[in-house]
Amino acid sequence: MAMLKTILGNLLRPPRTRGPADMPDVPPVYRGALAHDAARCTACGTCAFVCAPKAITFTQDPGVSVSWHFFIGQCSFCGLCAQNCPTQAIGLQADAPGATNSAAGDGLRLESVVRLQPCTRCGAAHVPLPDAVMEALWGVGEAERGYCPECRRRAASEKLRAAFVPVQEAHHDR
Ligand code: SF4
Ligand code: SF4
Repeated sequence: MAMLKTILGNLLRPPRTRGPADMPDVPPVYRGALAHDAARCTACGTCAFVCAPKAITFTQDPGVSVSWHFFIGQCSFCGLCAQNCPTQAIGLQADAPGATNSAAGDGLRLESVVRLQPCTRCGAAHVPLPDAVMEALWGVGEAERGYCPECRRRAASEKLRAAFVPVQEAHHDR
């Protein structure tokens, strides 16, 4: 009897499923979906490393690009990726939609492509670093900003040699 009452009650109740058009407002503490700035990204992988649910992944097109992928369905909105990104290439935007009615799943997955560039010294394809990062890490001038990591290392070593070897030679000559 009780079961019959439940069945009848369910049949007479209006549907409870909410469509995308009448979704409830997100709570004020919702941090939001990620936005990614490929121009600031160094493809260091820190964001993927700190993301426990593995919502961030990378794919590579060797010699051409590194792609950053984000799947909101696996994101817990902890914000760790944005906090730990050394170049602030990731931001959380609270006004980003948290769901979609697109059958293709648009909006659930983000892809951001970091294009590799040829080194201006040796031609090797590498991830270009933002100017501010080049200055902070290497203190390099305009000409060296297009260098790959190997050429930056060599240029730094040449500078050290130019600065210290004459001093050492002067000591030996005494
Ligand atoms: S988004 Fe930030 S943490 Fe992630 S790979 Fe790019 S620079 Fe590194
Ligand atoms: S907010 Fe947290 S769970 Fe979401 S992608 Fe970033 S680190 Fe991963």
